[in-house]
Amino acid sequence: MEDCIFCKIVKGEIPCSKIYEDDKILAFLDINPVHKGHTLVIPKEHYEGIVDMPDDTLGELAKVAKKISKAVKKATDVDGFNIIQNNGVDAGQDVFHFHLHIIPRLKGDGLGRWPHQKFPEEEMKEIQEAIIKSIE
Ligand code: AMP
Repeated sequence: MEDCIFCKIVKGEIPCSKIYEDDKILAFLDINPVHKGHTLVIPKEHYEGIVDMPDDTLGELAKVAKKISKAVKKATDVDGFNIIQNNGVDAGQDVFHFHLHIIPRLKGDGLGRWPHQKFPEEEMKEIQEAIIKSIE
């Protein structure tokens, strides 16, 4: 896509700190990392979010993400890392070209965990059924 920043990176029009490249996938350092080593893995083709990704490209990307995660973990010498992929404005997506974040986590880094909630059993059942019915 013409005005997509990650498409421009793929085309070499904007520089990036490249980590990995093959015919379908590119990985590079996030320009504003949460921690040093924060890496993004993207498809070279433009897809907005996970639901837009063809299954084969998503499969290839998952394999690359595993390989790069191991490398990030080794290079940064951390015990833990998060893999995050934001879909939509409300979920914090800023760049609308699919990207998976690999974020090394440091002990006591203060970033914390997701807040959790409890819902009544009938609401849980209702949403369980609604999701099952929505599977295509
Ligand atoms: P998201 O909020 O999931 O859309 O994340 C977008 C990420 O892209 C952010 O973490 C940005 O720091 C990162 N980002 C934006 N522009 C660039 C760029 N030119 N090179 C590398 N990372 C970028």
